[in-house]
Amino acid sequence: MIQLPVYSFQVTFLLLSAVMLTRYFLLAGMFRIVCERSRKEPIDKGTISSRQIKRDIYWSVQSSLIFALAGTVLIKLWQAGETQIYYDFQQYGLWYLVFSLGIYLFIHDTYFYWTHRLLHVYQFKKCHFVHHESRIPTAWTSFSFHPIEAVIQALILPVLVILIPIHWTVLVSFLVIMSLCGLLNHLGFDFYPTFLEKKFSLISATHHQRHHKQVTVNYGLYFTFWDKLMKTEAGETHG
Ligand SMILES: [Zn+2]
Ligand SMILES: [Zn+2]
Repeated sequence: MIQLPVYSFQVTFLLLSAVMLTRYFLLAGMFRIVCERSRKEPIDKGTISSRQIKRDIYWSVQSSLIFALAGTVLIKLWQAGETQIYYDFQQYGLWYLVFSLGIYLFIHDTYFYWTHRLLHVYQFKKCHFVHHESRIPTAWTSFSFHPIEAVIQALILPVLVILIPIHWTVLVSFLVIMSLCGLLNHLGFDFYPTFLEKKFSLISATHHQRHHKQVTVNYGLYFTFWDKLMKTEAGETHG
């Protein structure tokens, strides 16, 4: 059974901020190097300015701190016994481990799709423009959000763990998938095979990059279900 060390709110926040910032710089930096050395063709051959990279890093650092704050709230709720995070693999059956991961991904995708559409209307547009300023995204763009958008994105996870039972290992897997998908969608290169996108309705970098340029299509995060259902999908797949 995992026992998280109990620190004060402030110390937990500081530690988690260090984890979030390391996650951002390590993952984005590594993926950027992989992309630059790749023999694959980029999705868009346009130039990426150093100004864009600096701007993406500036907003991503702020978002990472907001995600650290949400993570601190989650840990404190967990330690107070207020969440549905559990430790015994058998508690809900082994089938539930896979099912709960699917449920978390589906709900998060649904939340992302609809809040993302909201961010494209009225005053919210000004916030979301921060993310769209990088019309040709890179790995550095993956956490580049205005603080208001980062707060909207961060709210869902503490709510989910309060409401829906999840084994702590599944929660960790979900966080890894969430981080990787955010990165892969912004790489500017498509690395995974086309059949994953076609057979499992997974969102590719090409799919999301089109959203950065065309703006009114392809709002999803993990899957293309909602875009298909709401007829907001521009059905371009990578080759
Ligand atoms: Zn994006
Ligand atoms: Zn958008």
